[in-house]
Amino acid sequence: MIPYGKQDISDSDVQAVVDILKSDYLTQGPKVPEFETLVAKYCSAEFAVAVNSATSALHVACLSLGAKKGDIVWTSPISFVASANCALYCGAEVDFVDIDTSTGNMCVTALETKLQIAKSKGQLPKIVIPVHLAGQSCDMARIHALSKQYGFYIIEDASHAIGGNYKGHKVGSCVYSDVTVFSFHPVKIITSAEGGMALTNNSYIARTMKKFRSHGITNSEEELQEISHGPWYYEQQALGYNYRMTELQAALGISQLARLDKFVKQRNYLAKQYNALLPKNVHHLTQNTNTESAYHLYIIHLDEKVSNSQKSLITTLRAHGIQAHLHYIPIHLQPYYQALGFKKGDFPNAEVYYSKAITLPLHPNLTQSEQLFITDTLRGLL
Ligand SMILES: *Cc1c(COP(=O)(O)O)cnc(C)c1O
Repeated sequence: MIPYGKQDISDSDVQAVVDILKSDYLTQGPKVPEFETLVAKYCSAEFAVAVNSATSALHVACLSLGAKKGDIVWTSPISFVASANCALYCGAEVDFVDIDTSTGNMCVTALETKLQIAKSKGQLPKIVIPVHLAGQSCDMARIHALSKQYGFYIIEDASHAIGGNYKGHKVGSCVYSDVTVFSFHPVKIITSAEGGMALTNNSYIARTMKKFRSHGITNSEEELQEISHGPWYYEQQALGYNYRMTELQAALGISQLARLDKFVKQRNYLAKQYNALLPKNVHHLTQNTNTESAYHLYIIHLDEKVSNSQKSLITTLRAHGIQAHLHYIPIHLQPYYQALGFKKGDFPNAEVYYSKAITLPLHPNLTQSEQLFITDTLRGLL
């Protein structure tokens, strides 16, 4: 099966992990801070907090921005469920902003309209979480302008987008947001097996996310609320979690980071090849001129006139050994979210998108002959 996504592991990645196994620290050593510093520097952000997944990063980001019962968080319905679940973990309510079907990203016009209505009802969101679908940044400058006008925080869910650019800034720079979150799951752009990171330019948010990562505990002199009892002293100041990244994961992440630009370049090359090879009656997601995608996913849309159904296409492609996929099922249609009151028809663009989208395999080691086989097979089915 040609997988829809796959990690690239080199001998130096293997060596980096083995070196840690032979070292003094398997966790809470020097590699996690080194990985944080390198990613922050790569993105030109001031602070980075490594955790055990992007899901944990989204959770500590929401907590650090004060999300709690009575608050409202908005995100995109076309995302992985973690983009919405993070708000529910904090006791906040979730709602969605419909997408722009051409990019699959949150529609800024829909966001503005929804904000006007929410303002008149006194139900403005505390946090908005735009998701950079497939690796292309949302229109962050416009979302940022709206955040100033309506007074909400922004967490970028950039799980797909490390290595991408927006208006000449690296995704993760947090020029237009409070926090940006990356995922290092193996199908994403770089991997630490499981792992995630939250970047910010705000030292208070960074400190608070670090506290929530590790039980709500601090031993840092300037944060202590009481007088230290001695060199063993620490204080639990909030109800935190154990969301720590291990040294093994950080070492793998550091080793992978050295090849990030190469991966993104190869993914962009392969996406261009796909664009040229696609049959006429399918379309790829629109790429805006002010963005450079990291191309986590290559998503196509079927034309109205295509005779074969999306379901039969994906099933048949898989029967041919091609792991076609579909990103994503609109979150509001998940049974858990329907039980919260969401229903079919709530976000029509997301639902139209879902009825037409197919993800084709894309990873740095996809070969030209595999790509030709995929596009030829697809053409034969249409
Ligand atoms: C993968 C992903 C996540 C969750 O990442 P984990 O590291 O697996 O927790 C969150 N949001 C989006 C958009 C993702 O694709």
